[in-house]
Amino acid sequence: MSPFLYLAAIAVPSIAIALCQSMHSGLPRLRRASSDGVLIDGRYRNVAVNGGVALAAYVAGIVLLGGYLVDAGRTSRWYAPLLVLLLYDFGYYWLHRALHWRSLMRRVHWVHHRTSHPTAVDSLYLHPLETVAGLVVLLASMAAVGPLGPGAFVATAIAHSLVNVLVHANLSIPARLAWLTNHWSARHDAHHSSSGNFGTITPLWDWLFGTSARTQHA
Ligand SMILES: [Zn+2]
Ligand SMILES: [Zn+2]
Repeated sequence: MSPFLYLAAIAVPSIAIALCQSMHSGLPRLRRASSDGVLIDGRYRNVAVNGGVALAAYVAGIVLLGGYLVDAGRTSRWYAPLLVLLLYDFGYYWLHRALHWRSLMRRVHWVHHRTSHPTAVDSLYLHPLETVAGLVVLLASMAAVGPLGPGAFVATAIAHSLVNVLVHANLSIPARLAWLTNHWSARHDAHHSSSGNFGTITPLWDWLFGTSARTQHA
């Protein structure tokens, strides 16, 4: 697989985080709150650590699962990344619900919930175990659908990271084309500030299992 593909998988989400963070000065956020995470101790150090942990998890996944994940000689169908993300969304919904069990919240998920109104950079403000657990769900979903062609593998990894960034971006962009981004932001902001809305990509699992939170759109 071309090293440029790997580079794109790192560069695109990093640029998205930088863009979303910079947009906060020019666009209305959903809410302005003193607890939005800006002043949390060690926030950027934690984000850097989790960036490294995510990279290591991908490398470990490729080494351990290799042929189940990606096949250099294969061209995947266009919908393969969508299937992976749908499967991941289901797995992540249950992982996230489990992370809200008292013992896991106290040991792991509390780090991510230190911010009540997250911004893009908080997509990586996590306990490292949570980073690994989320990527295990993603890689398992890839293996279940795959093996994917190199392009589909990288496209899926980029889409997963981008969704995670946009879900936390807390931006209200005044454009119809941005309805999905605005919806993701509003839904997940409601999760951080109250409860419910455990799913990220689709609201489907929250609807089905009765865990939707009241979402306040800006
Ligand atoms: Zn949570
Ligand atoms: Zn979050």
